[in-house]
Amino acid sequence: MNSELQKLIALQELDIKIKEIKKEIDDIPKQKAAIETEFNTFAADYLDKKNRLDTAKREHRQLELDLQAAESALEKYKQDLMQVRNEREYSTVLREIDATKKKINSLETEVLQRLDLIEQLEKEIQALTPEIKVKRREFDVRIEACTAKLETLNAELEKLTRERENLANTIAADLLSIYNRLVQLRDGMALAEVRDGSCTACFMTVRPQVYADVRKGEQILTCDNCSRILYYRGTVEAESKSAS
Ligand SMILES: [Zn+2]
Repeated sequence: MNSELQKLIALQELDIKIKEIKKEIDDIPKQKAAIETEFNTFAADYLDKKNRLDTAKREHRQLELDLQAAESALEKYKQDLMQVRNEREYSTVLREIDATKKKINSLETEVLQRLDLIEQLEKEIQALTPEIKVKRREFDVRIEACTAKLETLNAELEKLTRERENLANTIAADLLSIYNRLVQLRDGMALAEVRDGSCTACFMTVRPQVYADVRKGEQILTCDNCSRILYYRGTVEAESKSAS
């Protein structure tokens, strides 16, 4: 068989493998995201409680600040009360003191409500934690498996890319550029096997003379219909048998 044709067949096989591996690599982040989604669904109740706890703590901190502000306002009004000059000012400050006391009261109630909620949520979260931890470890193992798979795929891709480069370097430049152009035009498949007298890529029947020549495998021939470079598997197999 024509050695250039043999090389092109090997090149296409490498390109197909490279394409598959790239697709698998692209798929890994999706797999990881799906695992995280699955965990989030499993842990929905737990994560909801965690969120509510965070919110309650944040609100509690804010309420404490509001309470401090109200308390110092009250102190200030109490001092104002010592310095009033008439009845009108007196009753104004007294009204402010009243309103501030009410505010402090309601803030204190809210602080207590938040503290109760925080305590309640912390208890519930604590009860759920062991189960979630076990589950999270299971999911982490799956995530790690994805990462390990990605490393293997990347190493494989690197190896195949090097092999491809080495092989491509041994192919005549004009033939290689025809191959590369066909890869672009024909969805990654520059070569097509002829089987039972037809091109397996476009299914057109190959002319009998072309078919006979393709079976001999001595020259580079293309499909009249799809322009792909044609080869005959029988020729490839017979030669690989005699080679081994
Ligand atoms: Zn064809």
